[in-house]
Amino acid sequence: MINTQPVLFCFRNDLRVSDNPALTAAVETGQPVIACFILDNTSSNPWLPGGASRWWLHHSLQNLEISLAKLGGQLILQRGPWDQSVLNLAKQADVSTVFFSRAYEPFGATQEVNLKSQLDSLNIETKRYGGYLFFEPEQIKTLNDEPYKVFTPFWKRCLERLNPKLPHNRPQSLDFAKVSLPSDKLENWKLLPTKSDWAVGLKQTWRPGEEGAWSRLTEFFDGAVQDYKEKRDVPSVIGTSRLSPHLHFGEITPRQIWHYAQAALSSAPQLQKGTDAFIRELGWRDFSYHLLHHWPHLPESPFRKQFAEFPWQKDSESLRKWQKGQTGIPLVDAGMRELWHTGWMHNRVRMIVASLLVKNLLIPWQEGEAWFWDTLVDADLGNNAAGWQWVAGSGADAAPYFRIFNPVTQSQKFDSDGVYIKQWVPELQKLPAKHIHAPWLAPESVLKQASLTLGQNYPLPIVDLKASRQRALDAYQAIKT
Ligand code: FAD
Repeated sequence: MINTQPVLFCFRNDLRVSDNPALTAAVETGQPVIACFILDNTSSNPWLPGGASRWWLHHSLQNLEISLAKLGGQLILQRGPWDQSVLNLAKQADVSTVFFSRAYEPFGATQEVNLKSQLDSLNIETKRYGGYLFFEPEQIKTLNDEPYKVFTPFWKRCLERLNPKLPHNRPQSLDFAKVSLPSDKLENWKLLPTKSDWAVGLKQTWRPGEEGAWSRLTEFFDGAVQDYKEKRDVPSVIGTSRLSPHLHFGEITPRQIWHYAQAALSSAPQLQKGTDAFIRELGWRDFSYHLLHHWPHLPESPFRKQFAEFPWQKDSESLRKWQKGQTGIPLVDAGMRELWHTGWMHNRVRMIVASLLVKNLLIPWQEGEAWFWDTLVDADLGNNAAGWQWVAGSGADAAPYFRIFNPVTQSQKFDSDGVYIKQWVPELQKLPAKHIHAPWLAPESVLKQASLTLGQNYPLPIVDLKASRQRALDAYQAIKT
């Protein structure tokens, strides 16, 4: 007998139709499907999406609405605490089962437990799926059955088992339930920034949604992947995939990427070295989520307890200058301005700007994490927290405390001609490459020729790099155990 009772499928950070195990399972029940997305901006979640994420979410949902319309259905949009809203919808539509992809963020995971217990009491089944990572955080353990704290053995273990199943195909058709449920209009959620000029750069740079994700992937494999290992550290070239926001919002899955890579390698074996290095970076993503799952306080508190005693300094003026790309240190300013304009920053530059903030300025890493959270289109609880703690030296597998990036030598090494700096810091356009990395050391005549007056049309450095390095080393020495 055909079961006509509907099932409810909730989109979360899995804003895609293809390779979505939870959606496939809902479709395979043969029952009519109701698809929803809940904007949880009313609960006490301490990590509500920041400005750039909201912009992305708006556009990604818009694309998802189009995809579902092509399949003959509608996306029900509602606002409220996620667990409560899903429960209400399930009751209202009298569904037999609720399907969703699991959340790894501590707050979302708690909501899932609440929801399941309430659905259980109503005899509604809960079906929860993975698919966001190569491995679920519980699957990879040390021989002592403990979570890993160091990336290299973690990834070695992953590689021993890495052989993902074929991705699920996009459903060809979907039997949508013919029920009338209240739905908001996306426009009324006001996810787009009120300062419209801010979104201009985002719009020029990105194409949120599943199609945009696939065009990034194919473009990357048609070009940059071959030299990824060599060029991934050069910020002036597009040497990396720029898939991070697409991965964050679940518009594409690691296993889709993995299978695409295997197919590409079968006809182009010269891509092997670049592909291996690229897949390893996806391993770092799995590792961040592994850490977040096992140490849920990672976004707020230092992984290494002794860092709770670190003598951080409150300095809102320096923080502001750093945020605005006005530190007087060209590579740092270029990175911070790239972030403001595009919602993304090159990985090497992320490490350098973060090091300046937490080590040279001794500003708590949580301040930098919060700014990135608000301004990155790929703002991601696991990767952001792990990235900041790595730089601060307080993380699980962190950079040692004495590794303090020198932004001048980094700039000379990775942006030797100053191409990246000139792109984002036009004030320095006319400075010769030799002096662009540290304009404060340039002879007066060179500055004059470049129409630069430091302290007037470009800032003097916010901090003495040598003295602040020593200050940081002393501070770290004090908490070292
Ligand atoms: P690619 O080099 O093409 O790598 C492919 C994918 O691997 C990325 O899309 C990303 O999902 C993953 N990846 C790459 N590097 C890392 C890494 N170091 N850690 C974890 N995953 C990685 N990444 C985010 O996605 N969101 C963040 O909020 C975030 N915050 C960061 C903060 C700091 C201080 C630092 C140092 C790094 C942060 N990263 C973050 C990691 C990294 O900078 C970005 O993932 C990367 O720059 C994204 O560019 P891409 O997609 O071209 O990367």
